[in-house]
Amino acid sequence: MEKPYDAVVVGAGFAGITAARDLADRGYSVVILEAASRIGGRTYARPFAGREDLRAELGGSWVNRDLQPGVRREIARYGIALTEDPEPGGAVFLTDGTLRSFPVPARELPDLERLICHLRDASKRIAPSQRLSSQPIRDLDVSADEFIAPLELGPATRDLLYATIGWYSGADPREVSMLGFIAQTAGFGHSPYGFFGALTERFVGGAGTLLDRMVEQSRLEVRLGHHVARIERSEDAVTVRTRDGQSVEARSCVVAVPTNVLRHIDFNPALSADKQKLLAVNHQGRAYKPSIVARNVPPRSFALGTGSLQSICHGYELADGSVLLMGFGGEGAARLDPTDRDQVEAAVREYYPEAEVLAVDAHDWNADPLFDGTYRIDRPGQAYDFLRAMNEPEDRVVFAGTDLDDSVWRIWIEGAVNSGHQAADGVSVVLGRG
Ligand SMILES: Cc1cc2nc3c(=O)[nH]c(=O)nc-3n(C[C@H](O)[C@H](O)[C@H](O)COP(=O)(O)OP(=O)(O)OC[C@H]3O[C@@H](n4cnc5c(N)ncnc54)[C@H](O)[C@@H]3O)c2cc1C
Repeated sequence: MEKPYDAVVVGAGFAGITAARDLADRGYSVVILEAASRIGGRTYARPFAGREDLRAELGGSWVNRDLQPGVRREIARYGIALTEDPEPGGAVFLTDGTLRSFPVPARELPDLERLICHLRDASKRIAPSQRLSSQPIRDLDVSADEFIAPLELGPATRDLLYATIGWYSGADPREVSMLGFIAQTAGFGHSPYGFFGALTERFVGGAGTLLDRMVEQSRLEVRLGHHVARIERSEDAVTVRTRDGQSVEARSCVVAVPTNVLRHIDFNPALSADKQKLLAVNHQGRAYKPSIVARNVPPRSFALGTGSLQSICHGYELADGSVLLMGFGGEGAARLDPTDRDQVEAAVREYYPEAEVLAVDAHDWNADPLFDGTYRIDRPGQAYDFLRAMNEPEDRVVFAGTDLDDSVWRIWIEGAVNSGHQAADGVSVVLGRG
């Protein structure tokens, strides 16, 4: 039997790798077990299917070094190159069933102003530097309809909010807790539409370039193809068993898998009753993000609305005059196969009637059993309790991942990095106890 590690980390996404790297920095012995054949989890860049001259970023890609201190520190430490997207030069909106170049008709501008003020005022109640679950904001854990009910918005303004929430969540906006969206608004400088302009930086070669550097420089031991099925705790050790019968023993454990798949790991002793209850049902985040090569689309355009896709962002222009676009939609709004050229073309034409889609590529995160969804989007009334329950360690086992990050950057890469740091701190306390 091999000597027990100080820590075993389950999941090689940003949270797991950050936690492992922090522990290695402190001199602890660490091993990472990852079920897939690659690291990176929900960040995933690879050659574009059918267009191998291009790269498709199928998961998380945009960051903002000014607003996101965790990502900024990692990029600086490892000297990672970023690229800046061009600013949109125009926009098209699909609200109240009408395609328009202005988000709402002029008569609804006061409604839009009320909505923006209402969102900003709610976000100002959140201090971005403090844990969400320590702030008195439980009353924001309500549906979009409940949140906007006092405003009596016109239909186009309401659609604009629905489209924005749909873009952010990949879920039916009426079934999404507003808490996460308002917290994110606080992160983007208390600006309700702040993220429209704030997310313009991407990793050259994909976010995996940073993860590769973290693994290489700290010589982290990563075992790929190790699907964890069971985690046993005793008074002084944790034994982690994989589906194919291998086991690793350690003095502590960080579990950094997406929360929708956590219930498939058999914990012995069982998780707390609170955790079991909250993990029993899937969250609402079921987005898709097709990468699209298209022609006959206005230059540097941006689209937002209640179409089959809720937004289409401009990536960059290609040498042959076509453009690379990123679409965002979700099962909550429309069923769409994001790898089907015809379906994606029909969705793009809802915004750009002349568009011709030449190629599409996407990863189906919702069908992938290692994720079973995209990123955590809680139902109304569940976000606050989830953060409290999931950030409680279970003796020698701590939990990590963007889905349970207790900051305004929950669901983002920044949230995964932050959660990884917190988990390393939690494990250091366990290891310090001896
Ligand atoms: C389509 C999409 C677009 C996004 N866009 C952005 C963006 O532009 N900017 C941004 O900041 N964020 C974005 N995100 C979110 C960002 O990608 C995530 O917040 C982040 O990558 C999550 O990291 P994580 O470590 O918490 O989880 P993951 O990256 O999901 O890592 C968890 C790991 O656990 C593994 N695993 C699962 N089960 C087991 C098991 N039983 N045993 C062993 N291993 C297991 C998985 O294979 C995975 O590698 C996007 C996400 C998606 C899906």
